[in-house]
Amino acid sequence: MRVFPDIHQLDGIDCNVFVIIESDGLTLVDTGMPWLTKRVLAGIQALGHSPQDIRRILLTHQHIDHVGGLASLVQLTGAETWAHPADAPAIEGRAAREVPRGAMGLLFRTVLLPRLRSAPITHRVSEGETLPVLSAEGGLRVVETPGHTIGHISFYLPARKLLFAGDAVRSEGGKLTPPPAVFSLDMPMALQSVRKLAALDIDTCLPGHGAPITSGAQALLAAIGSAPALSKA
Ligand SMILES: [Zn+2]
Ligand SMILES: [Zn+2]
Repeated sequence: MRVFPDIHQLDGIDCNVFVIIESDGLTLVDTGMPWLTKRVLAGIQALGHSPQDIRRILLTHQHIDHVGGLASLVQLTGAETWAHPADAPAIEGRAAREVPRGAMGLLFRTVLLPRLRSAPITHRVSEGETLPVLSAEGGLRVVETPGHTIGHISFYLPARKLLFAGDAVRSEGGKLTPPPAVFSLDMPMALQSVRKLAALDIDTCLPGHGAPITSGAQALLAAIGSAPALSKA
């Protein structure tokens, strides 16, 4: 799905994978589940590019649906990779991964995580750092949005009022909602991060799950913070 002429959303990969097209190559935001990498590559080919055009991979957080394809894609392309220092060790296999509580956590440990290969993070980035992506417009800026995971980050392009939100929020039926509690480390912290995002000038919000919000995202973010009852699901 085309969001902008140079930004496309690849669907059907369990999380949204975004492709940013620039003259010097492609940047991916997140990578999908490990067993769906073929779909990522097919999506890139459908855009008229080859996998070798992937130069950079930005990871919003350590969850398997976002970093699952990373090992294969790095192996195939030699792309550089970016993540927050609090989530990088888990992605690299040097620290335990965050898993949901209860029965869902057991499913993750026994079924899903064994299928996940670790991969190197070449760049650790924190609040306010600018990435070498869309540099002609000032570059993507790192916004720390912890809570869903401890090292969750979003990527903001002020010049275009555009946010790659990761799982800081998700979109459903034209609205933005907080991440599900069962998959989140710390909900009060996650909601604090939503309020932080609502203070930014954001028109377009591209979340890790659900359809892109292509206008008026700031009001939708603010509506989460003022919602009377938040989902406990
Ligand atoms: Zn996700
Ligand atoms: Zn997640």
